[in-house]
Amino acid sequence: MTIANSDVMYRHLVQGVEDYAIYMLSPDGTVANWNAGAERTKGYAADEIVGQNFSCFYTPEDRASGLPQAGLARARDRGKFAAEGWRVRKDGTLFWASVVIDAIHGDSGELLGYAKITRDETERRMQEQQLLRAKEMTERYNAELGSLSSFLDAVISQIPSCVLVMDAVSRRIVLANRQVQAMFGVDRADMRGRTMQECLPEQACAFFERLCNDALRSDGAMREEEEELSTTLGPRSLRTKTLVFHNSDPRSRYVLLIADDVTDENAAHAQVRYMAHHDTLTGMPNRRLFREQMLKALNAASDGRGTAVLCLDLDNFKSVNDTLGHQFGDELLRLLAKRLPKVLREQDTLARLGGDEFAVVLPNIEQTEDVRRMAQRLVDAVRAPFEIDGHTVPVTVSIGIAVADTPECTADHLLRYADMALYEAKRNGRNGMAFFKPEMETTALKRHEMEMDLRQAIISQQLRLHYQPIKDASHVRTVGREALMRWQHPTKGLIMPNDFIPVAEETGLIHELSAFTLHEACREAMRWEPHETVAVNLSASQFANSALVSLVESALTTSGLPADRLELEITESVLLANSAANLSTLTRLKDMGVKVALDDFGTGYSSLSYLRSFEFDKIKIDKSFTQDVESSREALAIIRAINGIGRSLDIPTTAEGVETPAQLRRLTEEGCTHFQGYLLGRPVSHEPGATPPTST
Ligand code: C2E
Ligand code: CA
Ligand code: CA
Repeated sequence: MTIANSDVMYRHLVQGVEDYAIYMLSPDGTVANWNAGAERTKGYAADEIVGQNFSCFYTPEDRASGLPQAGLARARDRGKFAAEGWRVRKDGTLFWASVVIDAIHGDSGELLGYAKITRDETERRMQEQQLLRAKEMTERYNAELGSLSSFLDAVISQIPSCVLVMDAVSRRIVLANRQVQAMFGVDRADMRGRTMQECLPEQACAFFERLCNDALRSDGAMREEEEELSTTLGPRSLRTKTLVFHNSDPRSRYVLLIADDVTDENAAHAQVRYMAHHDTLTGMPNRRLFREQMLKALNAASDGRGTAVLCLDLDNFKSVNDTLGHQFGDELLRLLAKRLPKVLREQDTLARLGGDEFAVVLPNIEQTEDVRRMAQRLVDAVRAPFEIDGHTVPVTVSIGIAVADTPECTADHLLRYADMALYEAKRNGRNGMAFFKPEMETTALKRHEMEMDLRQAIISQQLRLHYQPIKDASHVRTVGREALMRWQHPTKGLIMPNDFIPVAEETGLIHELSAFTLHEACREAMRWEPHETVAVNLSASQFANSALVSLVESALTTSGLPADRLELEITESVLLANSAANLSTLTRLKDMGVKVALDDFGTGYSSLSYLRSFEFDKIKIDKSFTQDVESSREALAIIRAINGIGRSLDIPTTAEGVETPAQLRRLTEEGCTHFQGYLLGRPVSHEPGATPPTST
């Protein structure tokens, strides 16, 4: 083969190559020839492109930046230049080209042009790009996963509970958080991969293992249990929840243990519970706990054993409080709270229901007699004097007792019955006890109704005053009138004071009643002759209230009635109870200029010493003597005695309840100075606007 032949063959070979674009450029970049690969790659036929500048294969941007010429210059300077980049086909589409440009020189070294080989590497490029992207994505994903796992780690270690995960199959710990480490003093990294026995303290291990086993045995639902464990922080109560779960592999099984330290929470709850069930002053059980104990005793009662409830009320606690101060009273209650339980059994509950009210529930009672004995022990325990701040305080207690002997008797019944019995005990004189009797319920009910009615009576002004004249020795001259209360009930009609005053005294309503009487009587008396007095009855229970003096003062001031025209009628019971304090109240009233009469004298104790202890302005002889003056020597003797004292102490005497002229004559002979009774005038109402009663 000749060289010329081989040249031709070579040209054919080059021109036939289809995978590579092979062509030559003149030194200025003009396309000189074109092979089949070039046509295939770039889309131009040889006659279209030969003679054109090769820069048309470049993108406008590359062209603008001078890339085509720069490539040629490189090839010229270095002999060869290789590059990759986007090139443009005839149809405007882009392809990724791998380009090699060789500078071709003549024998004398002059530049003849360039040989350019271009290959369409778009597909490879795409694959590479995809791979690159995939790699980037993987890296990003790994990075995210890494930060997610450290994030989860941080979350788990931030959970304030102990978190422990155990592989149910291998029984090894998979995860333990910081709290587990703090609680049991084991490094959490060391725990991973080990069994609980290998790393946890024995007691905790036994508890957790049991929980895990229980959880695995059961249906896998969340379970909760609490136990006190000894930990590095001391003994702590752990409330532990267990849950069985699996991950994406359904054959896997894990037990998740979450333990919370509830020691402080439990202590707080216990404190709240204690406070809810105990009285803060004495630390004794309160009403709520008392009720619970009562219910417990009633529920447990069996075979003939009963439950008894005792209601206790101190007889003179109020006066202790009033005279010695509340701190003193508080101390007394605290001492009682210490003393009383000593006479009770272990199973009995003594509670403070409020103020000076206490109650005891006695379960397991065989005989009523046992209850009486226990109540007596309480009475005796209270009676022993209390020493407080150098004072010896005598205190007594009244006790009401109810025994549940039928299963129908509820806690509410029992407490109510004991309360009714207490009321009875107080009525029978203090310092004693009373057992509940069914009649008490009807009485209590009536009393309650009456109380409600009476409250209403005050509000809707159903109370009126009637006035009964008091005459002097002339029998015709009215020197004053006694105000007597009447209750005009809308349905029950007229109710007399003996039927409602006792209820008012028991319930404390007497203070409101008396405020009305005093104000109304003084106001009314202002319409009378200036020498006429008005007598107002006071109850002994009103003296317990220190407001009595100011009440009298306000009645006088409001009405403008001179003090010496008001006569207060009291009975000797005022001097009997709490005499020192009551006596001082009486003195204060008398100092105001008000007159004080001793009412119903001759009944009750009628100790002559009362007449010496206070300077009464008048003695009223009870109508029982007046009415018997003619028939009974005893009555006459008493009247004589009273008049005798009156004369010697210079105190006038009024005979009450004079009904007949014979009585009037006899009493006048016996030396009574004043007279009051149906014979001389009945109690009558003075309607507003009516003419004042005449003095004759
Ligand atoms: P008291 O203070 O002994 O009043 C005299 C009572 O004898 C009055 O009864 C009067 O109506 C009645 N009486 C008057 N003359 C005769 C008579 O000739 N024969 C008979 N059989 N009775 C006569 P009253 O009004 O039913 O009052 C009863 C008691 O109620 C009073 O007894 C008094 O202790 C009390 N009371 C009345 N009003 C008040 C009041 O405003 N406050 C207080 N604390 N007690 C009052
Ligand atoms: Ca009276
Ligand atoms: Ca009287």
